[in-house]
Amino acid sequence: MSSGQITLPHICPKCKIEIAIDYQELEKKFGFRNIDQASMRNQSWCRECRKKSTKK
Ligand SMILES: [Zn+2]
Repeated sequence: MSSGQITLPHICPKCKIEIAIDYQELEKKFGFRNIDQASMRNQSWCRECRKKSTKK
């Protein structure tokens, strides 16, 4: 598996609790920001942190 953009394991920099050790967990816990094939990037914050930060 090769992608220069995504480093695994990925730890949520916000809560430092959520961790994704592979792409399946990345998709499940973080989600991808899919701009195009060449520049696919994962979300840095986990879904929970993003949910909290958008809810005011
Ligand atoms: Zn988090």
